Amino acid sequence: MTAIIISHPACLEHLMPEGHPECPQRLEAIHNQLLSSGLEFVLTEREATEVTDAQLARVHDTQYLQKLNSQLPTEGIANLGDDIFLSPLSLVAARYAAGSGVQGVDLVMQGTTKVVFCNVRPPGHHAERARGMGFCLYNNIAIAACHALDAYGLRRVAIVDFDVHHGNGTQDVFLNEPRVLFCSSFQHPFYPDTDIDVKRSNIVNVPLPATTKGPEFQQAISDHWLPALEDFAPELILVSAGFDAHLLDDMSSISLTEQDYQWVSEQLRAYVDEHQQCRGIVSMLEGGYDLPALGRSVVAHVKAMAKL
Ligand SMILES: [Zn+2]
Repeated sequence: MTAIIISHPACLEHLMPEGHPECPQRLEAIHNQLLSSGLEFVLTEREATEVTDAQLARVHDTQYLQKLNSQLPTEGIANLGDDIFLSPLSLVAARYAAGSGVQGVDLVMQGTTKVVFCNVRPPGHHAERARGMGFCLYNNIAIAACHALDAYGLRRVAIVDFDVHHGNGTQDVFLNEPRVLFCSSFQHPFYPDTDIDVKRSNIVNVPLPATTKGPEFQQAISDHWLPALEDFAPELILVSAGFDAHLLDDMSSISLTEQDYQWVSEQLRAYVDEHQQCRGIVSMLEGGYDLPALGRSVVAHVKAMAKL
């Protein structure tokens, strides 16, 4: 099977304030672009399954999970601060978003496919163990990684994160977990302005100046991520796939294009093909707010990972 796309209609039901960039239309823009690119004939679509409480508890503190539950509004939109909003069905959406990554790990580990893309929201990589922030409620990619460690006994899982913002939540979860390599590239200085100077061999932070364009991005990935992957020898690669470093995305100043997302995705697939211990790639949507650029970038990402 070339690649599996996992999504769920409940992910459209997490509502943000009027005009907010992290909107349900993001998922529709991606879906429509996958359709119009003709990829629906070669991709398989699956409906996400829900994350379990035990899977959430591997990553998040009980008190934080209880706080989210207790602040869920019965109508309207609750502003919890730190760029976190809850609508009545937000936690249903978040449970399917997190569950899609767990399901993706299952599909790759069971040999059904080598490539999964989860077209889900809310995003996850800013959510720390004990607090949500930056539109992120549950740390989807961290939950997927913990599932790979616990359910399959993997000893080396790599998470790569090319969202334009630093994946502070993922770093927080895995700071003292040598079984997880975390590689993040991001505009710096920039939101979330949390500590990136952590000096751990399993954390590879690649800050990029606001003026960064494709060639500098590709050079930084070649210099820092690819050797780290080579040394670490992951059995599974997870991707925090944010597309907000795109030239057309108002969220940042970095100027990447579809070709850059294609390039980095080709590098990851080549790693899988060249290393027998690596079972495949599970990629999950993070940011990306210019809807046409987001749709095109995801198509480039999926095509490159699936070698289409
Ligand atoms: Zn972002």
